[in-house]
Amino acid sequence: MERINSSGLIHDMEEVPATEVSESQLELAHPASFIQEIVNSEPEDGLTKVEADTFMSPGSLRAARLAAGANASATESVLSGKNQRAFCAIRPPGHHAEIAQAMGFCLFNNVAIAAETALQHKDINRVAILDFDVHHCNGTVDIFKDRDEVLVCSSFQEDFYPYRYLEFTNEHIINTPLAAGSTGSAFRKKVERDWVPALLSHKPDFIFISAGFDAHRDDPLGQLSLLEEDYIWVTRLIVDIANDLSRGQLVSTLEGGYDLAALANCVEAHVQVLVDG
Ligand SMILES: [Zn+2]
Repeated sequence: MERINSSGLIHDMEEVPATEVSESQLELAHPASFIQEIVNSEPEDGLTKVEADTFMSPGSLRAARLAAGANASATESVLSGKNQRAFCAIRPPGHHAEIAQAMGFCLFNNVAIAAETALQHKDINRVAILDFDVHHCNGTVDIFKDRDEVLVCSSFQEDFYPYRYLEFTNEHIINTPLAAGSTGSAFRKKVERDWVPALLSHKPDFIFISAGFDAHRDDPLGQLSLLEEDYIWVTRLIVDIANDLSRGQLVSTLEGGYDLAALANCVEAHVQVLVDG
């Protein structure tokens, strides 16, 4: 947020404070029993371990509700025609959260709630979720694995966390693995090879981006070597496709990204392309 504010980009956007997601919006992606389990897991002080990599402290539940709520309201804003594109500057991320399993820092699947919100609208019959985080979006795949109206394309570092849903063969689930050490040229070639034909064939009415920036060269968790220019390239590609197929309707939400300097650079570059349209 410091970078978006200091870059001047904020003057070209409408800044909307996040509001907490409603129960009915959460239940579009997760069963009530799981939501209750997460609610019950928040400690009064200290930390509780929800699973191997995922902890909650006081305030975690509100943060997760705001993150999911930002996605739902950004989607509603685009559906209403008030805005054409939106970026959700949120944490915690969401794409590892499965139907009934918190995982990998994710409590609720933000992008899935956004996609489900869009699919409630009478004019939205097909959507696409494009995920360029360094980690595979196992949670998003879990939620939409039997729903062919939702195209899910995920690029990720091969043989890397979370080691789930990698052999999935449904046509609407496009897995794009990249060997450790891959640079932007390999990423671009594979996105053009795998994602573009899938998008042209799916013809989504609305496109979502799970925008993780942990495939950046400087990220401490991943071993891919993308640079700001690669994120500009992929964002430009997606905005152009949204303009051609989806009346420009696009919501991007933050996923991973753990080198704060690289994260700020990448978010600024990504949001600049979203502003340019
Ligand atoms: Zn990640």
